[in-house]
Amino acid sequence: MVRNLSTLFLPVTVLLFSCWSLSRVPTLSTTHQELLAIAPYLLAIVAVASAYHFKRGRTCLVLLLSTSFYYYASHYGAQGLETPESFLVYHGFAVLLPFNLLIISLMSEKGIIGSAGRMRMAFVLFQLLIFWITFHQRSQTMWAALTRPIIQSRLFEVYQLPQISLLLLLLAVGVIVARAWQRQSPLDGAFFGAALAFGLLLAQPDTPYIAPVFNSAIGLIFILAIIQDSHNMAFRDDMTGLPSRRALNELLRGLGSSYAIAMVDVDHFKRFNDTYGHDVGDQVLKVVASRLMAVTGGGRPFRYGGEEFTVIFPGKTAKDAAPHLEKLRKAIEEYKMALRSDERPKDDSKGQVARAKPYGSRDVSVTVSIGVAESGGRYASAEEVIKASDTALYRAKNGGRNQVCVAGQR
Ligand code: GH3
Ligand code: MG
Ligand code: MG
Repeated sequence: MVRNLSTLFLPVTVLLFSCWSLSRVPTLSTTHQELLAIAPYLLAIVAVASAYHFKRGRTCLVLLLSTSFYYYASHYGAQGLETPESFLVYHGFAVLLPFNLLIISLMSEKGIIGSAGRMRMAFVLFQLLIFWITFHQRSQTMWAALTRPIIQSRLFEVYQLPQISLLLLLLAVGVIVARAWQRQSPLDGAFFGAALAFGLLLAQPDTPYIAPVFNSAIGLIFILAIIQDSHNMAFRDDMTGLPSRRALNELLRGLGSSYAIAMVDVDHFKRFNDTYGHDVGDQVLKVVASRLMAVTGGGRPFRYGGEEFTVIFPGKTAKDAAPHLEKLRKAIEEYKMALRSDERPKDDSKGQVARAKPYGSRDVSVTVSIGVAESGGRYASAEEVIKASDTALYRAKNGGRNQVCVAGQR
């Protein structure tokens, strides 16, 4: 559970730091305070530029909204009741920010340049245009109506936050947490941070310096998330969530002189795909990956490519690693994956697959063969150790599959 929601921690940390720094702002010099006032713009520019580079259209939309809010709040105030202008800024954005955050968190990423990306941008710009028109006409009617209390209760009077904003923000948080739970994308974490920041900005609009500090925090959160996201793109396999071949090469470069390398290959996987289809095959690979993540003995798993995986045991010999690999092999063999009825094979002749149960049963399972070799001895480089464990893997396949073979042992 902690790992599933780990992407939410960094934004929360940034926001906690922002809360703490609110009280420090008055002690800053005038120059620093002036710098703070333009920080949200500078950070938003950097964040939008990186979001543009990595084709993260949803991020651009959130930043467009938050920066517009900051612009109006810093020029006209957002105390809500003091002047007609600040009333409009507060109530307008108390609707626009939560509403759009909810909509955007429900969207899938479609880039920026394409027709979907342009439509979305137009959708947000249209709403900002409506705000701009009502703002210039000093017309409060629509925003006042939208933010009218839904339930009359003293409970909601503690904060200024209109009930509709609270409701939309809670829905957005629900959607974002559900997404983060499934995909663990740093950008979902950033959306979570944005939801909390919007909530705070709208609940405490008259706290001094809250607008520059929290709008800066939003920019920073998105910059950090995009950095993390691009790192993941390069070093993490999207489907299984395991570190990729590239990450393996990085690790091998910095590895000491003693280690064991295991190559893991799914048995008869071609047949499995032929019988159950590629999608069920993918699901099985995810299951295998999740077992690999739980490997004991300090093993570090990677997706080598296709249905092949690598486990590195730093500081261990092949003999040390063997019992942990045997445990892993068994865990995969014992795992049964339930099939939905529409995923079962339709053709009777294809029902009998390797380790998969016969046609008609609900569960399928796969087995793996593993070869392991250690550094030192005859092997001059990690590539040669990998080659040796591949040879051991080949023996495991020839010996009947579903077994672990140690290089150099009969
Ligand atoms: P064995 O290793 O036991 O000798 O037999 P195999 O059938 O597993 O052999 P091979 O390595 O030749 O086949 C690998 C198959 O794995 C080919 C391909 O269809 C399948 N495969 C590779 N990557 C993926 C993937 O990402 N998803 C799915 N569903 N299948 C994949
Ligand atoms: Mg293979
Ligand atoms: Mg295979």
